Amino acid sequence: MLRVLILGGTGDAAELAAKVANIPGIEAISSLAGRTREPSTPVGNFRIGGFGGVEGLAIYLHQMQIDVLIDATHPFANQISFHAANAAREVGIPRLMMIRPAWEQEEGDIWIEVENIINAAAALENEAQRVFLTIGRQEISAFSHLQEIWFLMRMIDPPNADVVIPPGLVLCDCGPFSLADEREILSHYQIDTIVSKNSGGNATYPKIIAAREMGIKVVMVKRPLVPAGEQVADVESAVKWLLDKLGNNAAKCREI
Ligand code: NAP
Repeated sequence: MLRVLILGGTGDAAELAAKVANIPGIEAISSLAGRTREPSTPVGNFRIGGFGGVEGLAIYLHQMQIDVLIDATHPFANQISFHAANAAREVGIPRLMMIRPAWEQEEGDIWIEVENIINAAAALENEAQRVFLTIGRQEISAFSHLQEIWFLMRMIDPPNADVVIPPGLVLCDCGPFSLADEREILSHYQIDTIVSKNSGGNATYPKIIAAREMGIKVVMVKRPLVPAGEQVADVESAVKWLLDKLGNNAAKCREI
């Protein structure tokens, strides 16, 4: 039996958990941070909540006798990715990052690429009037000083009551979003600029296509650095990696 911990919180992680559930000899546990109020629960075993830093994660890996770790978290969730790298090293188990490719700028795109959310807010100053903010709820207050700009803020759950938000409207919704709906939002709210993280993948890409079609600027936040190590770009490749590890594990058991 190969025991795998899938660090999740993404559609790709959920898809991986569903695929792995049908593979004999692999037992998976998915882990969610617990940020969303009503998360869609993955297929198979899962747990919710932080581990308590690198040390807590290392203890969990040891106690649950995890053989391999797949970090399928969002490309911008980089604290947990570094924790995963350090904890897996500490316990001495293989770790794989499943990370979808970043979006590339195409002809017709008007992108202003920035390093982080603070720089995204700075890029809007004196440049934008009606902004579609699609960065989730955690860092929304970085835009709250921009009182001259109207924001449409899309997020899964509303911000906590103590969070200072910029002027505008909060729209609670989760992807995937259709191209038709994104076109409608951009024209209905007369958006002149979108702020987006470069998340990659298809679920949230239609807003980028709609912006290209409509000549709308996109302030695109570049990805943070990820820890070094083995990486794959999609679920199929992660399944192959797991099957390979399952084969090695079986061979090791026969030797014993
Ligand atoms: P983060 O900054 O990298 O992590 C902060 C802390 O949250 C970690 O140190 C860990 O706490 C806990 N944590 C994060 N992911 C976890 C997981 N899958 N299972 C258990 N604990 C986890 O993460 P974040 O950016 O807040 O993202 C939180 C979750 O939302 C991630 O699972 C990510 O996949 C998902 N998500 C994030 C974004 C985004 O833009 N950041 C977008 C979509 C989905 P301890 O130190 O206590 O272990």
